[in-house]
Amino acid sequence: PLVLGIETSCDETGIGIVRGRQLLSNTIASSMDEHARYGGVVPEVAARAHLEALQPSIERALTEAGVTLDDLDAVAVTSGPGLAGALMVGVGAAKGLAVSLGKPLYAVNHLVGHIAADILTSDDRATAPLEYPTIALLVSGGHTSLLHVRDLTTDVELLGETVDDAAGEAFDKVARLLGLPYPGGPQIDIASADGDPRAIRFPRGLSKASDMAKHRYDFSFSGLKTAVARWVERAEAAGEQVPVADVAASFREAVIDVLVTKALAACEDRGVPRLLLGGGVIANRRLREVALERAAAAGVAVRIPPLSLCTDNGAMIAGLAAELIANGRGPSTLGFGADSTLPVTEIQVSPA
Ligand code: ATP
Ligand code: MG
Ligand code: FE
Repeated sequence: PLVLGIETSCDETGIGIVRGRQLLSNTIASSMDEHARYGGVVPEVAARAHLEALQPSIERALTEAGVTLDDLDAVAVTSGPGLAGALMVGVGAAKGLAVSLGKPLYAVNHLVGHIAADILTSDDRATAPLEYPTIALLVSGGHTSLLHVRDLTTDVELLGETVDDAAGEAFDKVARLLGLPYPGGPQIDIASADGDPRAIRFPRGLSKASDMAKHRYDFSFSGLKTAVARWVERAEAAGEQVPVADVAASFREAVIDVLVTKALAACEDRGVPRLLLGGGVIANRRLREVALERAAAAGVAVRIPPLSLCTDNGAMIAGLAAELIANGRGPSTLGFGADSTLPVTEIQVSPA
């Protein structure tokens, strides 16, 4: 099926068009620059930017895919989780588009969309089919989730998630306290280049034996952020020059260590020798490196979608809907809305 997907859960207005698993176009307009001076995504600013970007993005995606609205078999949209106001803009647009075209509408889960990104193929990307079950680690500015995926369209289990800040959010906050600009992930990466990751031993959240009993697959990054803040304050109070490279590298190592350790623990516990990575934080080269190295040692195969499909995009939303259609699932009834806390187990919202 030819599907157009609309993604507006955070600061990317993503429009993607797929034919089955084949990626035809994927346009992304980001309002990231507008959030930079606030050091994080401002919901109202994001919602307004979506409103402005949607129409031109849809036109561009259609042109790039070489198809027209009439050609579409279905429209897909992210219903949640995400920022309520931002989601609402996409949901409203998708309903309007589907109703006016008389096409079926599929309301889907953003997090499951991140997994679906991995099944898409394009001219420069042929990929072996996703094998089940797989453990999935999704890390972005808004999410840090560990999932057990038995089937993309029917069975996704939440193993654990962050109890406070998301991993990307931690990068952004620590960058800010080191005086680096937003978004912090890439900045911390650059700053870490000459740093020693073992210079400072920062805490690994929820990793003590006493925490592991209840939070084996959960993450916590706010304690780490506070530890970095304290360390910098102490150095400044002592009149020392803050070794930004060492602090950045040590912080980055602490985040990565916990992410990879818990993801591989899930693989081992569940007897699943496959790990799928997704979300914008996967752009972190060191994270990919450590994950690949330690997974290989543990006999776990790692899959990483191309980075353009790891950050928020519409193609993964269209891809998930196309997969639902291929599995005989009917469209969503129009009663659904935006659900900022949609659980990952709800893969499709209000199916007929
Ligand atoms: P959502 O949480 O809904 O997926 P988002 O917009 O917050 O949306 P993404 O766009 O997927 O998330 O990713 C942005 C986040 O990824 C930011 O927090 C950014 O700092 C982080 N990030 C980007 N590049 C890197 C990197 N090289 N290292 C670490 N973090 C990175
Ligand atoms: Mg983003
Ligand atoms: Fe996302």
